[in-house]
Amino acid sequence: MTQTDVIIIGAGAAGLGAAKRARELGLSFVLVEAGHRIGGRAYTEAIAPGVPFDLGCHWLHSGSINPFTKIADACGFAYENDFTWERKLHSAGRWASAEESAAREAFMDAAYAAVNKAGEAGQDISFADATDRESRFTPFFDHVASLMASVDSDQISVLDAARYNDTGENWPVAMGYGALVAAWGADVPVTLNAPVTRLAWGGPGIEAVTSKGTIRARAAIVTVSTGVLANGAIAFDPALPGWKRAAYEALPLGVHNRIGIALDRDPFGSEVARGLIHADADHEPMHIQIRPFGHPFVVGLTGGRFGAWLERAGVNAAVDHLTDRLKAVFGNDVAKGFGRAIVTAWGGDPWTFGSYSAATPGTGWKRPDLARPIDQRLFFAGEATSLDFFSTCHGAMLSGVRATDEASGALGVDRRAAAS
Ligand SMILES: Cc1cc2nc3c(=O)[nH]c(=O)nc-3n(C[C@H](O)[C@H](O)[C@H](O)COP(=O)(O)OP(=O)(O)OC[C@H]3O[C@@H](n4cnc5c(N)ncnc54)[C@H](O)[C@@H]3O)c2cc1C
Repeated sequence: MTQTDVIIIGAGAAGLGAAKRARELGLSFVLVEAGHRIGGRAYTEAIAPGVPFDLGCHWLHSGSINPFTKIADACGFAYENDFTWERKLHSAGRWASAEESAAREAFMDAAYAAVNKAGEAGQDISFADATDRESRFTPFFDHVASLMASVDSDQISVLDAARYNDTGENWPVAMGYGALVAAWGADVPVTLNAPVTRLAWGGPGIEAVTSKGTIRARAAIVTVSTGVLANGAIAFDPALPGWKRAAYEALPLGVHNRIGIALDRDPFGSEVARGLIHADADHEPMHIQIRPFGHPFVVGLTGGRFGAWLERAGVNAAVDHLTDRLKAVFGNDVAKGFGRAIVTAWGGDPWTFGSYSAATPGTGWKRPDLARPIDQRLFFAGEATSLDFFSTCHGAMLSGVRATDEASGALGVDRRAAAS
């Protein structure tokens, strides 16, 4: 039986941020992670030798005020700070004209303005309810919204949009955001392959049962996703109060998946758009990025119900879907250069059960409740608890710091002065 000040559950960005803060404050901690690696939803793999592919987060959102930007600088990770989304539309066998593109962008701007206006007015309605449903560009807006929120337009409240702190800067990390988080977190001691299955918090302290033994602590910082909480993977004893359950049920995770295909040879040439959306009447639209950073791969993005459906259809169906979209734009020969694929399946991932949280319309905005501690003993972090940077990696990290500060205050432990 291990005894410590704080047990931190989950070694994603939130858990790692919490652990680093605990170390600063002189709190003893044990950080336990269910999986075989740190990073959680921040995860980079090589799609080809030396070619990084992010399975989870990729962009430093709100880049100029994102703490991971400074960490990237310190760790020597390059990012693109003049990145703009390119989303050339290809539909019905041709590229959209300049006029059509301008009309579409004007529709997008008006739709987002309507969403923000409704959110700022405190209306708890969905993106769909706040926007024009009759435009020919509505499916395009819905697709982009499903990537942004990981749920569909009818499933996300405008209150989220109004409260998110968006500077409009989205900076992709060349060698992978997941690799950046892994490098930053590498100095944190973590017990891997140790899922917490039971968390008893009814007595004077905390008792956490893991596959590698029981840990006794004065407080716990829970950083697992709302998908894990809702799935009951951790048996809380006593059960969490109703207001906490209502909070995580109002902030479910949707699905955003990435389908990557390595290019053994370049079938595109230099003139191709870096980012495009292919949309035909008989198919869901798909946002596709061609050779990000000049790296030899393409990646197709899916979100919302369609993303969840395609995930269930399996890896081959996902690769076929992206291949068919690319053939429709570039011709059948495009597939001749295709190599290995990486297809994510976040919806079925047993340690997340989804991609990121979205506030359900009509349930009130429950992020503050999700973040609120219980009995000065149970503290909550993770992207869904962030009030201004939810659904992001840096929001997760900052929430870990916030939860550790709360725990330190509750335990009356801040050993910084003694250490200096
Ligand atoms: C496809 C995709 C694209 C994204 N794109 C971006 C982006 O471009 N920019 C951005 O900022 N964000 C993006 N995000 C969101 C971002 O990745 C997440 O918000 C962030 O990484 C979440 O961190 P977290 O610490 O809150 O949760 P997690 O990363 O989920 O960490 C929780 C940890 O808890 C562990 N765990 C689960 N159950 C248990 C248990 N019982 N016991 C112990 N450990 C457990 C999990 O294994 C996990 O490691 C994206 C996410 C996805 C999936």
